[in-house]
Amino acid sequence: MSDCLFCKIAAGDIPSKKVYEDEVCYAFYDIDPQAPTHFLVIPKAHIPSCGAVTGENSAAVAHIFEVIAKVTQELGLTDFRVVSNCGPQAGQSVPHLHFHVLSGRDMTWPPG
Ligand code: AMP
Ligand code: ZN
Repeated sequence: MSDCLFCKIAAGDIPSKKVYEDEVCYAFYDIDPQAPTHFLVIPKAHIPSCGAVTGENSAAVAHIFEVIAKVTQELGLTDFRVVSNCGPQAGQSVPHLHFHVLSGRDMTWPPG
């Protein structure tokens, strides 16, 4: 999608600090980290949110979870949290599906 921030980041049109990339997804460090390690994993294809996952695009979501396991292992992260906010009331500010991976500090539950 031409006016989507994360589509532009995935395409390399806006700079980011890459963690991992393949043909399906892109991972990069969050610009405003909420934990000592905080990166985002996004599908390269534009999916607006978790609420728009379908049988047509869910393979990318499954792949992203494989990538999260692989990358966290490579970074030596054994304890981490994966979060996806869906909709503004839940805290979604960028309408392109993304999974936050947060690690390196104690986490509270329930989230705020
Ligand atoms: P959410 O608020 O759940 O939609 O998450 C969006 C995340 O994107 C926030 O944590 C922002 O800090 C992060 N973010 C926004 N712009 C950028 C950017 N240019 N590079 C990296 N992270 C960004
Ligand atoms: Zn997009």
